[in-house]
Amino acid sequence: MSNLSYVNENTDAWQTYLAQIDRVAPYLGDLKNYIDTLKRPKRALIVDVPIVMDDGSIQHFEGYRVQHNLSRGPGKGGIRYHPDVDLNEVMALSAWMTIKTAVLNLPFGGAKGGVRVDPRKLSTRELERLTRRFTTEISPVIGPQQDIPAPDVGTNPNIMGWMMDTYSTQHGHTVTGVVTGKPVHLGGSLGRVRATGRGVFVTGLQAAKKIGLSIENSKVAVQGFGNVGNEAAYLFSQAGAKVVAVQDHTGSIFNADGFDVKALQNYVEQHHGVAGFENSQKIDKEAFWDVEMDIFIPAALEGQITVERAERLSAKMVLEGANGPTYPSADDALLRRGVTVVPDVICNAGGVTVSYFEWVQDMASYFWSEDEINERLDKLMIQAIEDVWKTSEEKSCSLRTAAYILACERILKARKERGIFPG
Ligand code: GLU
Repeated sequence: MSNLSYVNENTDAWQTYLAQIDRVAPYLGDLKNYIDTLKRPKRALIVDVPIVMDDGSIQHFEGYRVQHNLSRGPGKGGIRYHPDVDLNEVMALSAWMTIKTAVLNLPFGGAKGGVRVDPRKLSTRELERLTRRFTTEISPVIGPQQDIPAPDVGTNPNIMGWMMDTYSTQHGHTVTGVVTGKPVHLGGSLGRVRATGRGVFVTGLQAAKKIGLSIENSKVAVQGFGNVGNEAAYLFSQAGAKVVAVQDHTGSIFNADGFDVKALQNYVEQHHGVAGFENSQKIDKEAFWDVEMDIFIPAALEGQITVERAERLSAKMVLEGANGPTYPSADDALLRRGVTVVPDVICNAGGVTVSYFEWVQDMASYFWSEDEINERLDKLMIQAIEDVWKTSEEKSCSLRTAAYILACERILKARKERGIFPG
């Protein structure tokens, strides 16, 4: 194994990903000869996105679309609007999509895009102009058979609708399959909005059964109360768990008896954050990590669980709703302490799995009921976590490394069988 001593809390997202790849390499046999293919993106596009603001001024934003690997099919992955987006982050996020689609055995490669912008600071009209110009700039590399964007942090179904409309306008006909996560009446899929949170819950239940953790009365803490965190929190509370702590960009709140999650969802919709929610105690940002909990769900951004926080965390199980929330050094600490980490590449794969169903439905112009979607989703997620669990037992490795073993075998076999052009 390569020297991992460079892995520390200063590690950026791409380095975190590379360290994860270094960890899986010794398990890959002859396929290891192809591993360098995963250590660089296949294609990266940086675009300038100029827009006219409502006050008549012109502002420029930097946008990206990275296709990390296309060995198994078209690129797939979300579009992030966030002020910290940069090429390094988008590269890492695209690589995690390559692994994620392969763990679930979806016929896609991995891609990701983003714009370095704070969407909260734009009006709806500005957001639409930004989205339409960004879509135009990346349109040479996207398409239903090429690369299919979807929502991520800071984007939503409306934005996907604008992307679909822009691409379609340029092609002279409606191309629903160019993006997923669209509004349902524009070719979106039932169940897509809640799919990622549902997947976190479904994989979490399976993992809890394996380690003998009862959900009834278990204490859950959630970081991030967006699309993923709020649905996962809701499903756990419905299953009898107590959601005792929630942290988001507005603050950290605590209630030892557990929150009424439905009421919290309504509050967040109105107030755009959890701070000030009734029947909650405001706690310090760092004290959040010391809350007594059984299950921790990071569902915000990457790089949250440092080795120091990992040592303090009382959770028996970490369910990675976010992409890349755990530093490799913290992963080691959690493993040593016997904490079960269900890694992002399987835990939050519910979103891209229903994106796949959406794409299939768009291709067939035939739509399934929400029950059919959820049933198929649960089946794929349970199968995937079972396979990952079995591999981790067979190889005596973490669930993350096990997931990477399964994924890298699939990707690198495809790489090997396709051969290197021109040969
Ligand atoms: N942005 C989501 C993810 O990180 C969904 C991607 C998709 O649906 O293509 O998995």
